[in-house]
Amino acid sequence: MDKLINKLSCGEMLTKSQFKDLIDNYNTENAEKLAFLANEKRQQIFSNNIYIRGLIEFTNYCKNNCYYCGIRRDNKNVSRYRLTKEDILFCCEKGYKLGFRTFVLQGGEDNFFTDDRLCEIISEIKTLYPDCAITLSIGERSFQSYKNLFNAGADRYLLRHETANDKHYSSLHPNELKLSNRIQCLEDLKSIGYQVGCGFMVGSPNQTNEFLAEDLYFLQQFKPHMVGIGPFIPQKDTPFANETAGTLQKTLYLLSIIRLMLPDILLPTTTALGTIHPKGRELGILSGANVIMPNLSPEIVRGKYTLYDNKLYTGDEAAENLKLLHEKLQTINCKVYIGRGDSPNI
Ligand code: SAH
Repeated sequence: MDKLINKLSCGEMLTKSQFKDLIDNYNTENAEKLAFLANEKRQQIFSNNIYIRGLIEFTNYCKNNCYYCGIRRDNKNVSRYRLTKEDILFCCEKGYKLGFRTFVLQGGEDNFFTDDRLCEIISEIKTLYPDCAITLSIGERSFQSYKNLFNAGADRYLLRHETANDKHYSSLHPNELKLSNRIQCLEDLKSIGYQVGCGFMVGSPNQTNEFLAEDLYFLQQFKPHMVGIGPFIPQKDTPFANETAGTLQKTLYLLSIIRLMLPDILLPTTTALGTIHPKGRELGILSGANVIMPNLSPEIVRGKYTLYDNKLYTGDEAAENLKLLHEKLQTINCKVYIGRGDSPNI
C-alpha cells in the first residue's frame, strides 16, 4: 500500500485496479497518510489560501427526474421558485461587497432559462463586475448553447459526471438520461474553453469500490480543472428516501486521493460534507480541498433548494457569515482568499 501511495503522490498514472486497491485498503492509518500528503500538496500549490465562491441557487424547477435529487420533476412537495434577473444581480451586489469574486449560478434544468435570458444575465453581471468570474451549473445543454453562454462571459462550468459506469448511471437516472451524453457535454465544455468541473456523490445507491475506481480513472484521463464530490444524502421525497448516506471518512479519503492525483485541481469542500458532520468542511480542507462555496441565494429561497434533507444554509454556510468562516479557517491555518481564484492550469 505504501508503494501505491508513493506512486500516487509522485504523479504516476494508476490503473483502475490500482485505484480499486487504494479504495479497498481504506483504514485510519492509510487515510491519515493520504490526508497528510494531500494537505501538504494543497499548501505547496495554493499556500494557505482557500478560494471562495458565492453560490446562487437561482431556480429549483427541473425537467429531470434523477432518483437521488430532491428537486426532481416528480417531487410535488417542493415549493418551486425562480429568481429574476434583478434578484440575481442583487445577490451579486451583496456578494461583491462581501468579497466574492466568483459567482456560481446553479439550478435545475429549467426551460424558462433560455440562452437569451441567461446571456443577458451573464453579460450584465460581467459589465457590472468585470473582475469577477462566473461559473454555471445548470446541467446538460447543446454545444451551441454552451458556446453562447461562454461568449456572453461565463468562465467555468460544473457538471458532475455522477458516475463513470454506464450501469450505475442507469440505476441513478431515468432512461432518457445517458452517461454518454453527460460525457459529451463535458468534452464540449472543455473544447469551448471553459474551466470544467466534473465529480460524483460518494456512497450513492449501488456504488461499489470498483465503480469508484472507474470514477478516479475517468478523472485521471479527463483532467478537469475542478472536481466536486460530496456524500450522497437521502431526500425524503425521492425514490432513494430510505437509502443510507455516504460517509465522512470515505469522502475525505477520496478528496485526498483526488488532490494527489491532480495536484492543481480546484477541489471544493462541499455543503453536503458540512451537512453530515459539524466539522465536515474543515476536515475536507485538511484532506486536500481548497475551495468553499457559501450560499449567496436570497434568504427567503434558501430552504427551498432541497437537493437532500437537512441541507445547511445558515452558520458559516451563509455568505453573510464570511467573517465567521475566516475565523474558522484560521484555526486550521488557512485564510479566505479574495480574488477570482482561477485554475492554475489555464
Ligand atoms: N442541474 C444541475 C445542478 C444539479 S445539483 C446539474 O445537473 O448539474 C448539483 C449536484 O448535487 C448534482 O450534480 C448531484 O451530484 C448533487 N446532489 C443531488 N442530489 C443529491 C443528494 N441527494 N445527495 C447529495 N448530493 C446530491
